[in-house]
Amino acid sequence: MTSSSTSSARFPRISNHGVPTRCWCGKGITTFGSSTAENRYRQFYRCQIARDRQTENHLFKWIDEALIDEIRMADAKHERVAQKITKFEERVMEKVKSEIVRVEAEISEKLKEKVNLEIARVSQEMKQKLKIATVAMVVVGAIVGIWISLTV
Ligand SMILES: [Zn+2]
Repeated sequence: MTSSSTSSARFPRISNHGVPTRCWCGKGITTFGSSTAENRYRQFYRCQIARDRQTENHLFKWIDEALIDEIRMADAKHERVAQKITKFEERVMEKVKSEIVRVEAEISEKLKEKVNLEIARVSQEMKQKLKIATVAMVVVGAIVGIWISLTV
């Protein structure tokens, strides 16, 4: 990754994933251009102290590599966010489904109650009507009986 592979235990390495903002020594980061034949004009990050203290292992990072790190970090973050959203959607859908089941059960229970009540009411009404019809038939029968006995 970085070309500073001569890491020493005497100099603590701070995490410099992505674009660094500060060297472990506390100094801010400056950009420099490489002058080696191998990496001519290639830009890198480094603290200013490092220029004078070549033996110390100060932060060094190629800018193009730092930017690729940043892109990868952003991608990973997007991936995590997308996963969280998917999980959240799944939880919401589960809740909605269980609520639908609950409401349906409640409605069917209420409907059953209403149907039973209606059946009871209608059968009561029918009984009442039947009673009236029976009484009417008895009365008619009696009238007919009286009429027959008078005309004979
Ligand atoms: Zn430094």
